[in-house]
Amino acid sequence: MSQDRTIDCLECGMTVTFGIVHCPKCDNRLDLQHDGSTVTVDIAHNHETVREAMQKLQRNMKETRESNAQNLRIVVGSGRIRDEVLGLLYDLRSRETIIDFSQDDKNPGAVTIKLKP
Ligand SMILES: [Zn+2]
Repeated sequence: MSQDRTIDCLECGMTVTFGIVHCPKCDNRLDLQHDGSTVTVDIAHNHETVREAMQKLQRNMKETRESNAQNLRIVVGSGRIRDEVLGLLYDLRSRETIIDFSQDDKNPGAVTIKLKP
């Protein structure tokens, strides 16, 4: 038994079941709403294998899409995990699954993924 996830419409405050695209009250596009915030997650510094890190990335992208945040910033370190993540992100961007991504100027071990326009 799991309860339906809900999200609050940022325009009118109505609580809506996640997955509904248009707010039933104000008709705003709920899947495009965000508050401009960024969620940061470290996927590489807890002895993760590449496979575990990629699963963490997928799970966090999904959770961030289902929240009010716009961006997901992932700390990927400098090894194979980063190579795999960047490969996946190039692919997702070319398929327009994500809007864009960029590596931090100051910290090359972190990547910010823009999930919503
Ligand atoms: Zn609304």
